[in-house]
Amino acid sequence: MKRGTRLIHNGHEMDPVTGALGVPIVQTSTFDQGDLSTPREFDYARSGNPTRKALEEIIATLEGGERGYAFGSGIAAVSSVLGILSGGDHVIAAEDIYGGSWRILNNFYRRWGLECTAVDASDPENIRRAIKPTTKALFLETPSNPLLKIIDLKTCLGIARDAGLISVVDNTFMTPYLQRPIELGADVVVHSATKFLGGHSDVVLGLAVTRTKELGKRVYAVQNSFGAIPGPWDVWLVMRGIKTLKARLEVQEASARQLAQWLLDHKKVSAVFYPGLANHPGREINEAQASGAGAVLSFRTKTAEDALRFLAQVEYAAAAVSLGGVETIASYPVRMSHAAMPAEERRRLGITDTLIRISVGLEDVEDLIADFDRALG
Ligand SMILES: *Cc1c(COP(=O)(O)O)cnc(C)c1O
Repeated sequence: MKRGTRLIHNGHEMDPVTGALGVPIVQTSTFDQGDLSTPREFDYARSGNPTRKALEEIIATLEGGERGYAFGSGIAAVSSVLGILSGGDHVIAAEDIYGGSWRILNNFYRRWGLECTAVDASDPENIRRAIKPTTKALFLETPSNPLLKIIDLKTCLGIARDAGLISVVDNTFMTPYLQRPIELGADVVVHSATKFLGGHSDVVLGLAVTRTKELGKRVYAVQNSFGAIPGPWDVWLVMRGIKTLKARLEVQEASARQLAQWLLDHKKVSAVFYPGLANHPGREINEAQASGAGAVLSFRTKTAEDALRFLAQVEYAAAAVSLGGVETIASYPVRMSHAAMPAEERRRLGITDTLIRISVGLEDVEDLIADFDRALG
């Protein structure tokens, strides 16, 4: 079966009870236990819900892992996965991971005794150098946010495996349609399904997939005891989104390629970051480990005034956080997704006041180009 077919035919294309072409929304908090003689699969909806279970099985199938788990947000998935670690453990993270993941590692979990070292993982040797006796996990994201830096997953995950670390990859930008980190050696994959998987900017949800059943048990223990679960309606919206992922992503990626190429030649633009561009650092690595370049790009204007003017003037792009929806979204990382990062750290990473990130939607690309041209002035 090819990857597009699997988005539709993954074991949950039909409800076996009614024949419905979708998973029923089971809206209940508890389940009758009969005469208590035999334990039933579901007892309380924090511990398990049939609608949620369907999505958890679907994402595990799509990522090629053993177990899947759904959470109330992408950050709840990240936090719950990190919750399998203990105080005193050390985590190595790529330095340009999602701002919220950075915050949970460096603020919240630090108070609970987790230590974190941020490294530039585009050179895998930096990971090897950061490993110490207490290192227990490696946290990566590729392409990175917002500069679309590429990390060589196979090499980095190999280093983690040799050192006995649990490796976690945030696959939000690529989705399992374009990239499957478990096949490249990852132990856990996490997602903000709020983005491309949900795909319509109408739901917040997170997912985690584990390579093994054993790791799955550890993540489940946190899911059940921490309780950061999604409701069945939100789960259902993500299952519906997944069915159209291929159609959306292919159009969005084709438009992103055209838009990135066009931006390169614009007089107000000084740099464009998109893994599909011929001269993008790491393009070949991305092509080897993923089936596409995705639909997120970023660019630098020549001045901060140009960037603010663009955001104020652009008509077919919402000036907003988030990405992966059917509508184009223009975000301003310095004030939005990376506002939680200390200014000095942002400067070092190149997240400046001239940087704009675009998540390309399903509008006709000719309209987007004309609109961007007008807004850039
Ligand atoms: C949005 C995002 C998250 C956080 O997900 P939420 O659903 O907003 O909690 C994590 N990682 C990446 C790469 C994201 O883009």
